[in-house]
Amino acid sequence: MPPRPLFRTACLALLLSLAGCAASPAPRTGANDAPALLLVSIDGLRADALGRGDTPTLDRLAARGARAQWMRPSYPALTFPNHFTLATGLRPDRHGVVHNTMRDPALGRFVVADAAAARVPGWWQAQPLWTGAERAGLVTGVWAWPGASAPIDAIVPRHFHPFDAAVPLDERMDRIAGWLAGPPPTRARFVAVYLEQVDKAGHDFGPDAAPTREAIRRVDAALGRLLAAVDTAGIAMDVVVVSDHGMAAVPEGHYLAVEDMAAMEEAEVVSVGQVVGLAPRPGHEAQVQARLLGRHPHYQCWRKADIPARLHYGSHPRIPPLVCQMDEGWNALPRQTVARRNAEGSHDRGAHGYDPDAPSMRAVFLASGPSFVAGKVLPPFDNTDVYPLLAHLLGIAAQPHDGDARTLLPALREP
Ligand code: AMP
Ligand code: ZN
Ligand code: ZN
Repeated sequence: MPPRPLFRTACLALLLSLAGCAASPAPRTGANDAPALLLVSIDGLRADALGRGDTPTLDRLAARGARAQWMRPSYPALTFPNHFTLATGLRPDRHGVVHNTMRDPALGRFVVADAAAARVPGWWQAQPLWTGAERAGLVTGVWAWPGASAPIDAIVPRHFHPFDAAVPLDERMDRIAGWLAGPPPTRARFVAVYLEQVDKAGHDFGPDAAPTREAIRRVDAALGRLLAAVDTAGIAMDVVVVSDHGMAAVPEGHYLAVEDMAAMEEAEVVSVGQVVGLAPRPGHEAQVQARLLGRHPHYQCWRKADIPARLHYGSHPRIPPLVCQMDEGWNALPRQTVARRNAEGSHDRGAHGYDPDAPSMRAVFLASGPSFVAGKVLPPFDNTDVYPLLAHLLGIAAQPHDGDARTLLPALREP
């Protein structure tokens, strides 16, 4: 049911006054019968992947709706931190998912592949959209979005499927279409979908390689299948497509052994890759810092308190005392891993986790459907700004967040 004209006018008047004083837009109604909202994340899809002939579905959505020139990922430009930022509007420094690999004195260790750890609510220190929506009485569905396997305040999405790379894309789309077009008591008003194929191919083959472009085409076609199914069922739906970060090419041989950065007897390595976290062992703080702090060939290191302010990172207790940022295209790995990959010839040809302002890290944002204006191109913005838009579309109160609710108002037909 579309919003009543009186409500629309009141909303618009309220919004104009609020926009003038830099506040959040007034939420819409939280009814289950407003247009559905589908949020799709295509992991590792670079902003420049659109409009190259690989993405007819995404290009059609962008033409009929709004898109960003690009969206800036939050630091670090890794999958789990950024997905929880998109779902909460908080920086990783504030929502607690500070890296794909973390250590917490009470909870132990977190790694992406550990499904049991992901189900522990304590890792996720904020209320994601689906929790707020369920609390407001909306039916939600989540396919594999990082964070959704943990009950937050004992609330889980009504429909949920955990990450499982073995489920074929078409089967996923058909199941999700079932959530969106099912009988009204269980019909989802909000669905969030995470898709890993483009990231996987980007790492294995590089961002511009033929198999990566093939993965982009497959994901685009699958999304087309889902949209067609929902359309055929006569369901009005807004669609927001994002990515969490881009993908940089990794040239042959661009690896360092993390043991050459700090001796293992002197420092614990909390995370490796592009954002290396190190905790000096007691008594070794001074020499580890003396060796690491500052600029080196292919990386630079900071004390956590000295990380540049533009990265909004360094205060959360889970961030180790020293953070080293690799230069674009470089990775720091355990010596054993480097040796094994050398022997197998299996080094990654693509990576992310580099400076969020690097062009290669630019992410996708596009939005289309009854709530959005057609043909709008928005200047770049931070991915923290997506959450207040989605909360507004769902008609639920936004939790405290780090985004700017005004950024995306120009994309809305009737803010
Ligand atoms: P990364 O590239 O290290 O940031 O992690 C993203 C990759 O992890 C994806 O390409 C998937 O293959 C994988 N992945 C994503 N979500 C999960 C999950 N919930 N459990 C296990 N693996 C996942
Ligand atoms: Zn990712
Ligand atoms: Zn990745």
